[in-house]
Amino acid sequence: MTCSLCGSEVGESFSGTEGIKLHRCSNCWLVFKDPELQPSAEEEEYRYAQHNNSDDCPGYRDFLNQALEPTLPYLDFGMEGLDFGCGPNPVLARMLDEAGYSCTYYDPFFFPDLPDDRQDFIMATECFEHFFAPAAEMKLLTALLRPHGTLTVMTHRWDEETDFSNWWYLRDPTHVSFFHRKTFDYLCSRFGYQVEEVPGDKVIVLRKMVVV
Ligand SMILES: [Zn+2]
Repeated sequence: MTCSLCGSEVGESFSGTEGIKLHRCSNCWLVFKDPELQPSAEEEEYRYAQHNNSDDCPGYRDFLNQALEPTLPYLDFGMEGLDFGCGPNPVLARMLDEAGYSCTYYDPFFFPDLPDDRQDFIMATECFEHFFAPAAEMKLLTALLRPHGTLTVMTHRWDEETDFSNWWYLRDPTHVSFFHRKTFDYLCSRFGYQVEEVPGDKVIVLRKMVVV
């Protein structure tokens, strides 16, 4: 089995929650579901449409604030950003607009038009775990971001304490890729980022370096 991120031959395969077949890459530390378990596009769209979080739901805003608050110190007024993988209701983009930043949004199912210009910042909340092809998605994100721009990622990372045999995060059939803190070090070195901040076990703020 080849790693869906770095292309290395995966050394370890094992069963997770409910017998879900998983692979763990010893090179980039990505854990991913067996490709046979990837949902169809129809199943994905159906499930995402069910996640229609209303923006007047305070709980959902609190959830998104976990990514927004650590990002704000890196933003200046007038900056333009992108809510990448926003789902059917771009709540985070609205929260950014309210905070004084211009924010557009993109979702391959619901808002499939990408912005023409490169962005000052990109927010990717609860979308990395859905990536079938994380390297291709990182390439796209990097192309969309200006040099020195920030990329904030929120996804539940696994660590040495994670019990894959009983991890709720695996149960959603659209969750297919699981990142370790070290996976982000791999992403940084391959795609030219540095880690700015790691608040908690879900959020990481990366900065795109200028390649000289
Ligand atoms: Zn790998």
